[in-house]
Amino acid sequence: MYNSTLAIYNTKSQELFNRAKNVIPGGVNSPVRAFKAVGGNPVFMKSAKGAYLFDVDGNSYVDMINSWGPMILGHAHQEIIDAVQDALSSSFSFGAPTEKEVLMAELICKMVPSIEKVRMVNSGTEATMSAIRLARGFTGKSKIIKFEGCYHGHGDSFLISAGSGVVTMGSPDSAGVTQGVANDTLTAPYNNLSSVKQLLEANRGNVAAIILEPVVGNMGCVLPLPGFLEGIRKLCDEEKVVLIFDEVMTGFRLAKGGAQERLNVKPDITTLGKIIGGGMPVGAYGGKKEIMDYVSPLGPVYQAGTLSGNPIAMSAGLAMLNHLSGNPSVYTYLDKITEYITSGIEQSINSLGLPYSINQIGSMYSLFFTSEKVIDFDKAKTSDTILFGKYFQGMLKKGIYLAPSQYESLFISLAITEEIADKIIKANHLTLTEIQ
Ligand SMILES: *Cc1c(COP(=O)(O)O)cnc(C)c1O
Repeated sequence: MYNSTLAIYNTKSQELFNRAKNVIPGGVNSPVRAFKAVGGNPVFMKSAKGAYLFDVDGNSYVDMINSWGPMILGHAHQEIIDAVQDALSSSFSFGAPTEKEVLMAELICKMVPSIEKVRMVNSGTEATMSAIRLARGFTGKSKIIKFEGCYHGHGDSFLISAGSGVVTMGSPDSAGVTQGVANDTLTAPYNNLSSVKQLLEANRGNVAAIILEPVVGNMGCVLPLPGFLEGIRKLCDEEKVVLIFDEVMTGFRLAKGGAQERLNVKPDITTLGKIIGGGMPVGAYGGKKEIMDYVSPLGPVYQAGTLSGNPIAMSAGLAMLNHLSGNPSVYTYLDKITEYITSGIEQSINSLGLPYSINQIGSMYSLFFTSEKVIDFDKAKTSDTILFGKYFQGMLKKGIYLAPSQYESLFISLAITEEIADKIIKANHLTLTEIQ
C-alpha cells in the first residue's frame, strides 16, 4: 500500500538544503518551510500533479497542505494551465489596466457576499496591511484589535502577541517591530467576546478596526463558537468599528463566498489571497463601496502596486475562480471527503484509546495532540508538539506530506479520491501506533 519507508535524508534534498543555507537565510524563502518545528530537513520539491508532490529524489507524497491552501483543485489543473499558457504570449505585464482585471473584480464581487468593490494586490500580507490602513483612513482612528493565534501576514502591526492581560498594550513578537507600532495593536483571546468588549470600552473612540480569521487556520484549525462572529459584528456596529474578515485562507475554500457565506456573517472589509491566484502571487481586499472609495486615486488612502493585477496571475486566478463559481459540487465533495478522512482518524484515536482532538470544517482540519477542546491559542498551546514532530515524520516516511507544524490547518484538495483518503487514514493509524 505504501512505498515502505522513503529515503528522504542524505539525498539530493539534503544537498540542496546545505547549499541553500549558504545563500538564503535558513535555507528557505518562508520560515515554516524549514521544518524547525518538526525536526529534520525540508524536502525539495520538483513537480506536482493532482493529489501528489514529487521531490528531487523521486519520492512521491500525498499533498495535504496544497501550497498552504491555493491548490484546492489539486496540482497542475488543466484549466489553469490552459489559461496561463494562453496568456503567456501577450506579454507578462503592462503597468496599464486590462480586461482581465475587470473580469476578476466582477467575479469576486459576485462570489463574495460583502464585497462591492475590490482592489488587487500581490499577497495576503499586502491585502491585510492595506485593509487596516484603509480602516484607519476611513474612521480617522488608529488602534486595531486582533486575536491571539490569528495570523494576518508579516506586516508590523500584526506581529504582536498579547501577553497575559487582555487590556494591556501589545508587545512586539518580532525584532524590528517598534513599540510605537505595537501600542496601536490590541489583542484578545479568540472566541472571547467579553475581552473584546473590555478592550473597546478601555479604548473608546480610538479603535479603527477589528481583524480576525472568521475560521482560524493559523493556530491549527479553530472554529468560531456559536454567536462569536455575530457578537463581534454587533459590537463593531455599536462602536462604529470597521470589521475585517481575513479570508486569505478561508476565502473560496469554505464556500465559493468564503467563511462569511458559510457562516452567514458579513464583514465590512474582506482580505483575500492564496486560492484567489490559483498558485500565482495574488491578494485582494474589498468591501463596502463607501469604504473602498477611500482608496487612492478616488480617496485619500494611498495604496499601489507595480505588478498588481498582473495579467498572467489574473489568468490563473480567473480560471480558478471560474471553476469554483461554476461548480458548486466542488464544496459538497470537499466536505464529504474531508469528513471521511477525519472520521477515519477519529476511529483510530478511539480504538487506540488516545485523548487527542480534531477540529474540522469543510476541507480544513487539524489533529491536536491534546485532550483539551481547542477553541483558542492557549488551548492550542497545550498540544504535545514533540509528539506532533514524530507524527509528522512518521507520516512523511509513509508518503503523506502534512504541514510541518502543529499550529497549521491541513487542506484537502479536490484531487483526493476515496482511495487516497483510505491511504491517509491507514498511514495515520500506523503512525499513531508507532509513536505512542
Ligand atoms: C497566509 C495568510 C496571510 C498572509 O498571506 P501571504 O500571501 O503569505 O502574505 C494572511 N492571513 C491569513 C489568514 C493567512 O492564512
